[in-house]
Amino acid sequence: MINPYLQLAGLEPLILSPEKNFINIGERTNVTGSKKFARLIRDNNFTDALVVAKNQVENGAQILDVNMDDAMLDGVQAMHTFLNYLQSEPEIAKIPIMIDSSNFKIIEAGLKCVQGKCIVNSISLKEGIENFTYQARLCKMYGAAVIVMAFDEDGQAETAARKVSICLRAYQILVDDIGFAPSDIIFDLNIFAIATGIEQHNNFAVEFIEATKILKSKLPYINISGGVSNLSFSFRGNELVREALHAVFLYHAIQAGMTMGIVNAGQLAIYDDIEPTLKKLCEDAVLNLNNENNQTTEQLINYANQNKKSEKSEQIEAAWRNQSLEDRLSYALVHGITDYIDVDTIEALSVYPAPLLIIEGPLMSGMNIVGDLFGAGKMFLPQVVKSARVMKKSVAILTPFIEKEKEKLANKKAVARVLLATVKGDVHDIGKNIVGVVLGCNGYDIIDLGVMVPADKILNAAIEHKVDIIGLSGLITPSLEEMINIAKEMNDRKMTQPLLIGGATTSRLHTAVKISPQYPNGVVHVLDASRSVTVVTNLLNPENKINFLDAIQKEYFILKNNYENKKSVKQLFPFEDAKKNKLKIDWNSFNPTKPSFLGMKKITNIKLKDLRNCIDWKPFFIAWEMHQNFPAILTDEKIGKEATKLFNDANELLDKIILEDWLQIKAVIGFWQASAIGEDIQIQTNDQTKEILFCLRQQAKKVSDQPNISLSDFIAPIESNIQDYIGAFATSIQGLEPHIQNFEKNYDDYNKIMLQALADRLVEALAEYLHKQVRLKYWGYIENENLSNEDLIKEKYIGIRPAPGYPACPDHTEKYILFKLLDLNNQANIHLTESLAMYPASSICGWYFANPNAKYFGVGSIGNDQIVDYSQRKNQDILISEKWLTPNLE
Ligand code: SAH
Repeated sequence: MINPYLQLAGLEPLILSPEKNFINIGERTNVTGSKKFARLIRDNNFTDALVVAKNQVENGAQILDVNMDDAMLDGVQAMHTFLNYLQSEPEIAKIPIMIDSSNFKIIEAGLKCVQGKCIVNSISLKEGIENFTYQARLCKMYGAAVIVMAFDEDGQAETAARKVSICLRAYQILVDDIGFAPSDIIFDLNIFAIATGIEQHNNFAVEFIEATKILKSKLPYINISGGVSNLSFSFRGNELVREALHAVFLYHAIQAGMTMGIVNAGQLAIYDDIEPTLKKLCEDAVLNLNNENNQTTEQLINYANQNKKSEKSEQIEAAWRNQSLEDRLSYALVHGITDYIDVDTIEALSVYPAPLLIIEGPLMSGMNIVGDLFGAGKMFLPQVVKSARVMKKSVAILTPFIEKEKEKLANKKAVARVLLATVKGDVHDIGKNIVGVVLGCNGYDIIDLGVMVPADKILNAAIEHKVDIIGLSGLITPSLEEMINIAKEMNDRKMTQPLLIGGATTSRLHTAVKISPQYPNGVVHVLDASRSVTVVTNLLNPENKINFLDAIQKEYFILKNNYENKKSVKQLFPFEDAKKNKLKIDWNSFNPTKPSFLGMKKITNIKLKDLRNCIDWKPFFIAWEMHQNFPAILTDEKIGKEATKLFNDANELLDKIILEDWLQIKAVIGFWQASAIGEDIQIQTNDQTKEILFCLRQQAKKVSDQPNISLSDFIAPIESNIQDYIGAFATSIQGLEPHIQNFEKNYDDYNKIMLQALADRLVEALAEYLHKQVRLKYWGYIENENLSNEDLIKEKYIGIRPAPGYPACPDHTEKYILFKLLDLNNQANIHLTESLAMYPASSICGWYFANPNAKYFGVGSIGNDQIVDYSQRKNQDILISEKWLTPNLE
């Protein structure tokens, strides 16, 4: 080996010999990381973009990272053009280039332009070995060094062990199979955000440092790199803390063997200059010391709040403001910027002969771009909702002027109209609101009747407003029945509009089997808001409509046939046999813990800020139609940038909600003596009266020794003479209305939906938080428990909290007794609708079982013999979710 060190070159060579210590890679020429740079590139202002690059060199960048990954850009073109500009500036071109993209086409475009020896950032095993080998060979052919991300088919490596094993595997392929020089390999070991408040993030820097040490000792000639800014992501906006964190991290990582890093070259604090308190906190955060219960994180946040250094440099007046009126309107819409929409709209009024022409002209063409980008997967739901907010604000300014010209409009062709409603008894709002916004963006007139709307009202409004399509939404299972009723009623009324079905509890199969047969003029299940546009467009185009509906009806017919054929083979035990095959718990060796009190109790000492760390973020992203796992979604190649923005916005609103105490917490729990009598759980209330919780039992034929479970199996049977207990809880987050109204007043659907989605998260977090307190304190059947939030989300604790209406207890009417025992109308201001949904929407209730054998299960299909027995025991109307009883109807 002539020279074992990585040798790079721009116009001048750069050799990474050990005395170089650490190489700064300038990060500002990155459209995903710098708003300013992104703006310049989007505006084709390459000359000013070069200034950004030059600043990086002047500030000490030794390699320049260039990234053009932006949905709004033609990345190949942008990479090509910018690099060509760059090569003609010797002051910049003297240093080597790092071509940065997650799209290999863009990388290849870059490889074709650069002189000298560059670095490709990055390749990885994420898509398997073949892709990796192909890309690596190509890089070698172009003579580039490569950054290999610690990423494989299973995802990004978080732990040191995984980082190391992925890198060793990649190394072996690169060196042994492809013939890479070890010195041409740089490993990016993934720097993730620390001190986020999420416990499992706390060790991320330690894992990085650990992996660096191991790899450098095994493979001395490779280099280790990482994107440093990520580390301090949760302190965005506070440069003082960010710079300090970076400096401390680098201090340790470099000692461990990190040789290069992507940094903001102009903004690196000097380790020794950091103020001592801050330095100590940063040391603790990076090395994960003294950080039980996120103590260090909290102290660092406090420090950050008290010591703000503002980040104004990026906020220069944007170049897009100098463009034509049409371009500005379009830019504001596509980028969801509301700041100037009022001045621009007013300017448009003076330019356009009629206000309606502004809507039909520049606003609609802007929204068309949004629609196209969304359809092509280049924009995501939160961005679309932000765009809609811009549109609505502009339309609100124009509306009074349009009213004045009404007569002129009389001859105009009306836009198509879609009616949306959540059905009677259901309070689900978010999904429906999202569909309304997305359709509204696409130019449809939306009539939203809100939640809990009776069939009559829906159908009368449809006739009165001459709507073209009716869309029904529902969250809880009884709504499925209501949707069937509405379809029947539409048939009786001889209506002609197509009927759309959507919402969490609905499914294509259920629509095909149960709803579609009731109404001949088109019933379509719409999976999510993004599909609603295609469906509505097809249904409103007279040329497509017939074919589209024909195709759907055929598809549904086949689904229904298949379903009915399958159904007949369902094998059930006689109920008597299922009872005998109950889950047998050895009660003699079980000693139930007596709860700290009996009866019900209102819990009033929980604060909103306690809930933050218990939030399960995954469903939040699902509400926004982003389906990846959290936190991986934040760094996801495709969706990461927008997911991060959404997450930031959510946290910002959450800050406000907590700081200004926007929402009220309701929590009620209760414990009682209980014993099982067959499938009944007899509950001894304080005043010596008894209530009964009626349970169902699985009846499906089981293989070998599998039991047929019922919730009653988890409570000691009366004949055992063991005193057992059961608990119940309800949680609710209330007080959204005034804030929702405020957002509505400002045409701000984005924040309205955000608030609703956060309230749902908070009430789930509250249930989780409360359950923990119950285990440790109120019931106290656990002495101590050391589970991270992730473990809590995975329900790794002992005991369960099944919710009436869900698979283990699918009868919604069991909520009556739960409501009675906890006096929820009075104690928590939660009410049951006629479908037994809980109002207000962000409410949860359930039972507590403490037995270690207790687990979630689905009752599944049951026979008539059990239904008869159950109805006789209960002697009241029952409301069993058919969806749970026929699980294959999902
Ligand atoms: N972390 C999620 C958790 C809520 S869903 C969130 O934030 O949205 C899990 C809850 O659903 C359980 O705690 C329980 O109350 C209910 N559940 C899940 N499976 C169930 C089953 N088979 N029977 C009854 N309730 C069930």
